[in-house]
Amino acid sequence: MKTTAAILVETGKPLVLGELEIPALKPGQVLVEIAVSGVCHTQVLECRGYRGEDKFLPHCLGHEGSGIVRALSPGVTKVKEGDRAILSWIKGLGADVPGTVYRWDGRNVNSGAITTFSRFSVISENRLTVLPARLSMRDAAMLGCAVPTGLGAVFNAAQAKPGQTIAIFGIGGIGSCAVAAAAIAGCKMIIAVDLRRDKLELATQMGATHCVEAGATDPVAEILRLCPGGVDFAIEATGRPTVMQQALQSVRNQGGAAVIVGNARYGERLDLDPRQLNMGKRLLGTWGGDNIPDRDFPRYCQLLEDGRLNLAPLMSKTYSLNGINEAIDDLEAGKVARPIIDMARE
Ligand SMILES: [Zn+2]
Repeated sequence: MKTTAAILVETGKPLVLGELEIPALKPGQVLVEIAVSGVCHTQVLECRGYRGEDKFLPHCLGHEGSGIVRALSPGVTKVKEGDRAILSWIKGLGADVPGTVYRWDGRNVNSGAITTFSRFSVISENRLTVLPARLSMRDAAMLGCAVPTGLGAVFNAAQAKPGQTIAIFGIGGIGSCAVAAAAIAGCKMIIAVDLRRDKLELATQMGATHCVEAGATDPVAEILRLCPGGVDFAIEATGRPTVMQQALQSVRNQGGAAVIVGNARYGERLDLDPRQLNMGKRLLGTWGGDNIPDRDFPRYCQLLEDGRLNLAPLMSKTYSLNGINEAIDDLEAGKVARPIIDMARE
């Protein structure tokens, strides 16, 4: 059996669409027909070579999506044939099977435990979660990375409570989900920071109470003006070290916390004034929102089912698999918060 897939052959070059031969499933693997894939900034870093030397070329990519289970290997119990599933890079319960090697024109093409830029994909059991019947494949795709990372940064890493204040830097897929999470958590002041006005408009739709246009003003000074003494939490979702500094500068002394979510380019360093830490500010890292999928994803699904989380404003542009390079270019240029690849679209 074959599948069309977008392949990274060389960093700095467009992805190549090819017909891959799908190998026999290994124990713990599942064959999924992909319905929808999101495109995350991580794939921009991979495609452009910003993650350092890539030893796996050529390879498949994509790490959030939704699809239908088409075949199982022996031992898989988490899903059954015909199930609709959330596909996420975040490990949950089930077999943890490392990558698959596809064949393409007489050469090997590597793949991680999950990839989603293809019509079919071989995925490790622990990257699948069964999708409740009422949720759409489009929303489900966002549950693979943007939703758990954004919501987890607020719920699990920051642990924001009702009445607290928060600033969110970078209103892409993850940042806008963090804004929504802050609203769900009951934060009284939710300050969105971005260079682009259209992203700030998106933040308002997702629940931001205040917007700061970072190019037009000093975001730290503006946050301190809006919230004297600093906010309780800052979520950094741009991946830029200078913005990480601003996030820490924006939080209050004695207990304020900056959560760093964005991925910097390979080799970049973060320069900090350690006195901020002496003042009791906390700098927190997070592994994609510190989620336990089998605990947290059902809760996120419930928020969607209850209408408390609305992802429609985030998914403003849909592409076909043939349009994958345009989607990546648009994401890098900031034209779209989260490109959606609909496999049914020609
Ligand atoms: Zn991601």
